Amino acid sequence: MIRILANDGIHPDGQLLLEEAGYEVITDKVPQDELASVINDYDAIIVRSATKIRQPLIDQCSRLKVICRAGVGLDNIDVAYAKEQGIAVFNTPAASSQSVAELVIGHILTISRSLHVSNREMLGGDFKKLKKQFSKGKQLAGSTMGIIGFGRIGVALASTALGMGMKVIVSDPFVERREIPLFPNHFGVKSNAVIYTDKMEDVLRQADVLSLHVPSFDKPLIGADELALMKDDAILVNAARGGVIDEEALLAVLDSGKLMGAGLDVFVGEPTPDERLLNHPKVSVSPHIGASTTAAQSMIGGELADILITFFGEQ
Ligand code: NAD
Repeated sequence: MIRILANDGIHPDGQLLLEEAGYEVITDKVPQDELASVINDYDAIIVRSATKIRQPLIDQCSRLKVICRAGVGLDNIDVAYAKEQGIAVFNTPAASSQSVAELVIGHILTISRSLHVSNREMLGGDFKKLKKQFSKGKQLAGSTMGIIGFGRIGVALASTALGMGMKVIVSDPFVERREIPLFPNHFGVKSNAVIYTDKMEDVLRQADVLSLHVPSFDKPLIGADELALMKDDAILVNAARGGVIDEEALLAVLDSGKLMGAGLDVFVGEPTPDERLLNHPKVSVSPHIGASTTAAQSMIGGELADILITFFGEQ
């Protein structure tokens, strides 16, 4: 029987599909430093971001055929090395895009109406003073959403932003045009409503709200020079990877009075982000939960089951 270790868990929908196909799925978490001693009991391992599959562990694997990442980023797996050793590596890139896009919208709405501060300060606070303090909200309809990186999540965000009446400008050196799926109730919105530019500077300058949906790079894509190009009252959101923004440069810009605020789902120092960001009155934070909706996790579970059943076949 094919044995699968879902070391960071798997949605019950995916587990059921695998079990119905005759697989054994074990969801008991094995601590990282004990994995090497049990890894040869399994044909496949499913991980999220917590479990690391590095070269020394791969060297111990004589039975393992497949590593699955339940999610997008493969930074916790030595992918090339695993493949050299004949172990297939899969991820589930599409299942969570809409959920990430919706979290981005949540951060944007939070910053645009100071909800993060209201939530903290209204209990016991001075209602009238807070009402005055938060009286300069930003309306999103009619404003411009800038998107850097126009892949799966960027497209989902564009679709949602268009539906909210925003203009959208995007830059992505590897994309010419993409179909924007529009929700059925968005009559009258055409997919050519998106402006494409080959200059990231155009997006930085024009965006009232800027959201990043690129992979991680060796150095930050958005540093002091890029932040300087942004509008003084723009909102910046990062739900891609922590290092995509230079956090020191962001803190300096926020403290200087520039930017209305920032929404951050990802951080350089995960799982212990810089406390200056967590405490900052202009920052809305979440603990890397872009893909963490039950809908996305169910779809990821289903996609994992499809991948593994295609790979090993019905038992
Ligand atoms: P994707 O591969 O579909 O899209 C990434 C896009 O970035 C591609 O179109 C690529 O051409 C573009 N790109 C690459 N270099 C660029 C550059 N220099 N400038 C502009 N664009 C560039 O990926 P995706 O599924 O949309 O994911 C985007 C990011 O979101 C990834 O970093 C992923 O790890 C992250 N993510 C975060 C969460 C979360 O929980 N917050 C969940 C899923 C994915």
